[in-house]
Amino acid sequence: MAIRRYTFRLYPNKTQERKLFRARRLHCYLYNACIAHRRFEWRKNHKTVDYFQQQNCLPAFKKEWAEFAYLHSQTLQSTVKRVDLAYNSFFQGLRGLPKFKSIRNYSGWTYSSKSGWKANTNGKHGSVTLNDLGISLKMRGQAKCWAIPTTLTIVYKPSKKQWSASFTGNVSREDRKFGSLSELKYESIVAFDLGTATAITCFDGKKFEEISNPRFTQGSADKVKQESKKLRRKRAPNKSKGIKASNRWKKARKKVSKLQRKVALQRRDWQHRVTSDIARRYDIGVTEKLTPKNMTKKAKKGSKRKKQKAGLNKSILSVGFGTLNQMISYKIEAKGGLLLQLNTRKVKPSQRCPNCAAIHKDWGDLSNRYHICSKCNFEIERDRGSVLVMYNVATNQQQGLGTSLLDSGCLSSTSLTSKRKHTGSMRQLGQII
Ligand SMILES: [Zn+2]
Repeated sequence: MAIRRYTFRLYPNKTQERKLFRARRLHCYLYNACIAHRRFEWRKNHKTVDYFQQQNCLPAFKKEWAEFAYLHSQTLQSTVKRVDLAYNSFFQGLRGLPKFKSIRNYSGWTYSSKSGWKANTNGKHGSVTLNDLGISLKMRGQAKCWAIPTTLTIVYKPSKKQWSASFTGNVSREDRKFGSLSELKYESIVAFDLGTATAITCFDGKKFEEISNPRFTQGSADKVKQESKKLRRKRAPNKSKGIKASNRWKKARKKVSKLQRKVALQRRDWQHRVTSDIARRYDIGVTEKLTPKNMTKKAKKGSKRKKQKAGLNKSILSVGFGTLNQMISYKIEAKGGLLLQLNTRKVKPSQRCPNCAAIHKDWGDLSNRYHICSKCNFEIERDRGSVLVMYNVATNQQQGLGTSLLDSGCLSSTSLTSKRKHTGSMRQLGQII
């Protein structure tokens, strides 16, 4: 079983949209009220309010504020939960202190169980009925693997002026489109490494494959730069000085955000195409455990390589390292395959000679693109070498390491995903409650 999310675009008519906007505004009020409550209690009494205290206040809150009464109680609870998640990730040090949200930044609300709504669809188009608002909305979209959804989140994107319904459901193996476990023979193994010069380097036992980095982001980045320069020259709003934004500024800002959105969409499209292709061809994927967060850490203060590191960070972020890994992982798993994530510290794929397993400390230097082993004179490109090591480890051919995958500190992807820290993101909300 795996939780999948599928999103459909909604097409409300004028009256329906008015109702949706009203509900969104009410949820936003509630969200801000919860934050105000927590702040007040902390400042005045030095008390931390938790989720259950606030949840228990809801019935009284509804009585006091009658306009909230018609909303489904579970949606109100999940909005309170949202505040709780935001505070939790703040306490964990993952995010800043939760702020009051303006309606502009408020996305929507969640039905955390099957009650209060109904999806009239079999995975393609259809409609969704929201009982508390008394409306049935037309929707379009298609789910790759459809299972009866268990949660629903209504999302509004102000930049696009679009409403969407985002369902989550437990997809069992039978529901999956890609075929069942028995069909897979686990014969095709691919080792892949994410790099900066070549976005992905693959090795499947026979040949290397290098997927180059799309440089479209750089071309568009220049354009974004140009346009944001124009934006800076226009009169920006300044609340403390009471200056309103000029119309030209508003226009220019729209242009910039449109460009940025285009780049993001291009990137996502490229990521999906590349990762689907790999996941389709292979049953087992081998890679090293990556932590893009560490990789893109800012260079230390006063470091000579500050600029270099910043450039590297940009190119790492522009490919979207974490997403690529995640995408290949969930796509391989979706068809019943397996993803092995090797322990980087133990295997040291980038410093190990694939031929004689000698460790070369100087190979860690990223400017060193071509590796020659000082012990056995084996020559290989850096990215190819590390992929070769990973492939050898997965197929038990690597010298110098234990014969079993456990010895080399291997983690399967399933154990990894469950360890993920929960933050207050919208996407996870439906899964946690
Ligand atoms: Zn060697």
